[in-house]
Amino acid sequence: MSVLTQETSGVKLNRMERIKKEKNPFEVWQDIERYALTGFESIDPDDLDRFKWYGIYTQRPQSDGYLMLRVKLPNGDATSKQWRVIAGHSRRFGQGLADITDRQNIQLHWLRIENMPTINRELEEVGLSIKGACGDTVRNVIGCPLAGVDHTEIIDGWPFADAINRALAGNPEFSDLPRKYKISVSGCVEQCAHPEINDLGLVGVIKNGEAGFEAWVGGGLGSQPHLAKRLGVFIRPDQVLDVSYYVTTIFRDFGYRKNRAHARLKFLVEDWGVEKFRQVLEERLGYRLEDAPADYQSPASSYRDHVGVYRQKDGRYAIGLATLRGRVNADQLFALADMADQYGSGRLRATTLQNVVLLDIAPEHVETVKREAATIGLPAETSNFRRGTIACTGIQFCKLAVAETKDRAAGIIESLDQELPGYPHQISINITGCPNSCTRYQTADIGLLGSLVRQDGNPKGEKEEVFQIYLGGKLGRDMQLGHHLKRRVPAEEAKEYIVRLLKRFDAERQNGETFTQFVNRHTLEELEALS
Ligand code: SF4
Repeated sequence: MSVLTQETSGVKLNRMERIKKEKNPFEVWQDIERYALTGFESIDPDDLDRFKWYGIYTQRPQSDGYLMLRVKLPNGDATSKQWRVIAGHSRRFGQGLADITDRQNIQLHWLRIENMPTINRELEEVGLSIKGACGDTVRNVIGCPLAGVDHTEIIDGWPFADAINRALAGNPEFSDLPRKYKISVSGCVEQCAHPEINDLGLVGVIKNGEAGFEAWVGGGLGSQPHLAKRLGVFIRPDQVLDVSYYVTTIFRDFGYRKNRAHARLKFLVEDWGVEKFRQVLEERLGYRLEDAPADYQSPASSYRDHVGVYRQKDGRYAIGLATLRGRVNADQLFALADMADQYGSGRLRATTLQNVVLLDIAPEHVETVKREAATIGLPAETSNFRRGTIACTGIQFCKLAVAETKDRAAGIIESLDQELPGYPHQISINITGCPNSCTRYQTADIGLLGSLVRQDGNPKGEKEEVFQIYLGGKLGRDMQLGHHLKRRVPAEEAKEYIVRLLKRFDAERQNGETFTQFVNRHTLEELEALS
């Protein structure tokens, strides 16, 4: 089938628009069942793209026929039973590997098309879904992993994230959005589910003594990053589903489809402005929304890594365990499920910093859980570097990657721990293998974007992996994208670069300033020369 654009009903469609129009991508499941019998080689290339609507991608190199799969955990939430099913798939089909992603999915690798019907059936049997895990549709709804147990939260976001996921994700009305579409719900004070970089971000607020939500719209990163804008509304709990639904219909009906690089909701919001967006939303709702509380403001920082021991509002404990940049193995997943059952109530949550939280741990078991988790390589007490470093899939598996990320992240953490033991400052280091920004390099204290350059600028020279550097990105109050430096750091030297940079920060910071404040105090030229 041609991969060129074509004319259909007088509208010029790009390839993805064409394949969505030719077949509802959610209907590709019946083909997946068929291909599982006929083999990878028999897969139609258009169907292979439709597989994304079930979270299935080819893994690099495509010729090997291996697939990766994202399993959605709305709000990161899972039971031990669900967790064990995923662990079993990792062990039986995925070479024992799994990645916790920064959108609270669990990603498996090394799968075969022949495995997919079994995997999906077993996931569905325990209430998990892969429908809508990728593709131009409503993705996994993310939220605070402490939702419902956090004694400082404004409102428990979990029931809302769950309800939005049930209503919108996998909904055939939204099988053909112009592009991917991300929703987050933060009921916590820190607004830790990143409303500023989601298409729709709901954040807990209180108005006249009533808890509800304010909405942010049009956030998204990638090569043209936009921070979301506040809609300026107060959304009562019983309005959340309506608002989420109609915002999504606005994207479906008015979002741009001609150019995929210009198709995310952020471009529509930019063109319309929030006043028009709110007006169209209220027309669709059929009622006016109240204004957001006048005293609303974002938290000073939305960085919250959920690692460590946290006392829940019911007196039990949540214990956040640090993975090493999201990568875990099947044995660890099984052990986590066992600990959740033995010492808690069988509840686990994945976090947006690629870690795991065990909920409802009885006070008398806290030390045991910490000890057992550390034994399996998932410590509750660890360095700020391990807590704050995330990495995307990168070149090991991702076909879009130009740089290795997971191993480099591990090497950077190791170097920092050796060179700067006991480093007292909370630092986020986000490493990505291409500009798509799956791990949000523009919003970290230190963002590393993998690139390829010709050595010595020689157009015929060998290509070398380097990192572009972004410094001082921040969400929350005074949000800003990281300053993009001109310099490129050879990928193998990134760890030394960061060690030098953080030594300077520690030695020269003034009056308790944060890393972002430290960065903002310097000119771009000074930042280039800082390390
Ligand atoms: Fe792949 Fe790029 Fe996303 Fe990394 S940022 S997982 S390289 S698409």
